[in-house]
Amino acid sequence: MTGATDVIVVGSGPNGLAAALTMARAGLAVRVIEGAGTPGGGCRTAELTLPGFQHDVCSAVHPLAASSPFFRGTSLAAHGVTLCTPKIAFAHPLDGGQAAALSGSVDETAGGLGADAAAYRRLLGPLVRDAGLILPDVLAPLRAVPSHPLALGRFGAAGLLPASLLARRLRTEAGRALLAGAAAHSMLPLSSPGTAAFGLVLMMTAHTVGWPVVAGGSGQITAALLAELAELGGVLETGRWVTSLDSLPPARAVLLDVTPRQLLGLAGDKLPARQRRALRRYRYGPGVCKVDWALSGPVPWRAAACREAGTVHLGGTLAEVARSEAEVTAGRIPDRPYCLVAQPGVVDPSRAPAGQHTLWGYCHVPAGCPADVSGRIEAQIERFAPGFRDLILARSVRTATDLDRYNPNYVGGDINSGAGTLRQTLLGPVRPWPWPVGWNPYRTGLPGVYLCSASTPPGGGVHGMCGAGAARCALADLSR
Ligand SMILES: Cc1cc2nc3c(=O)[nH]c(=O)nc-3n(C[C@H](O)[C@H](O)[C@H](O)COP(=O)(O)OP(=O)(O)OC[C@H]3O[C@@H](n4cnc5c(N)ncnc54)[C@H](O)[C@@H]3O)c2cc1C
Repeated sequence: MTGATDVIVVGSGPNGLAAALTMARAGLAVRVIEGAGTPGGGCRTAELTLPGFQHDVCSAVHPLAASSPFFRGTSLAAHGVTLCTPKIAFAHPLDGGQAAALSGSVDETAGGLGADAAAYRRLLGPLVRDAGLILPDVLAPLRAVPSHPLALGRFGAAGLLPASLLARRLRTEAGRALLAGAAAHSMLPLSSPGTAAFGLVLMMTAHTVGWPVVAGGSGQITAALLAELAELGGVLETGRWVTSLDSLPPARAVLLDVTPRQLLGLAGDKLPARQRRALRRYRYGPGVCKVDWALSGPVPWRAAACREAGTVHLGGTLAEVARSEAEVTAGRIPDRPYCLVAQPGVVDPSRAPAGQHTLWGYCHVPAGCPADVSGRIEAQIERFAPGFRDLILARSVRTATDLDRYNPNYVGGDINSGAGTLRQTLLGPVRPWPWPVGWNPYRTGLPGVYLCSASTPPGGGVHGMCGAGAARCALADLSR
């Protein structure tokens, strides 16, 4: 390692830290500069409600970390991270006490879907069999011929469809709702092309690695990444917001864990005009309203499957979930929103004092929405778990505008740092540069400056693959 700083990383979210580690593992001297007082971006844990209740401030459920090539190559366990995997990855209750649930193998899940058992096996069976071939390609930018084109082609044939269309392969309300709940993570109307891919990827991960939470909270992942960075001589500086690239110390490479809007501000007129135009066109998605609860006991779900599930998707039938997402896109707050709820206490009793529980949940709202919609989220939980409200000891609410203030990467409360449209997911925010030879979605058009946040492929989630991809691109450029 040289004495001076070789690499500056701005932002210490999972992608910033993945970029920093990838560079440090290559023997370079790395300095991470984080604006907030604590590192971790969307991967932090804090006592948000009452003493002794540990809440995941942002990410809570980690199928993407468990299947990401970056994290698989990182010794999380050696740095104290234990992934706790619930028996049921996710459940989706319907009115009347029934619930669809995804657990274990494709056969096990199909067995609970009655008339949809065969259709579910046909849809998920081949994809789960080939998940080891498909997921690495899906979690990488589309730059070259995929390593397993046939398997990826099979995935694409289903994944490129709107989720609402793919759901027609299933006949029961339960089967369709199971798919809708997973696909609605996309934060897009379920009639949008490619929304099926979000659902299928999440279902494939559920069948292959499960949907784990981290013992003690997601912040343990950040702590582990920072511990390895420190072992490699990397330095972290917190509480310093970078407002211009000119304010950074000299370095051979700068990796920015920020979104296109901030890149425009940081680089100003330095960016080539065509890149500035492309960055201005970058689209952000809807926001979320996030709620954390301290509860005096477990949620009294009517359906038994929900009591064992780490994640519960609320919102009723496919038609209801689709309506909720369409309303959000149209700029309205749904009366009965689709909600994502995680109950880490199902597998991690360390989150709350004995017998008590934390609960994590959010629903999608229009971008920049300042409204506290915790009442509507609680009404949805109460719908499927009568008596829930009686257990609430305390709650902490972050509206979409609060999230934007909490982390500048959540523009308007968009937790994925950009709308998950097909174009943006595959190509990222910057225009192919240089085109066509050597195009790489992490290059910004400024020599030595790279974008490494979730705004780049493969998009949102704690998988570190945007950071690792940007760092590999920077290393290749440095070795020229
Ligand atoms: C409520 C919520 C729930 C989520 N749930 C899940 C989940 O369950 N599972 C999952 O996989 N993902 C989840 N996510 C998404 C996941 O957290 C993000 O996709 C992920 O954190 C993106 O990582 P990143 O490194 O790109 O950016 P971030 O994690 O957003 O980190 C960016 C960092 O850069 C810093 N920064 C930005 N600008 C500057 C600047 N100018 N100067 C200095 N520092 C700067 C920020 O302070 C921040 O720390 C959730 C997110 C939210 C908000």
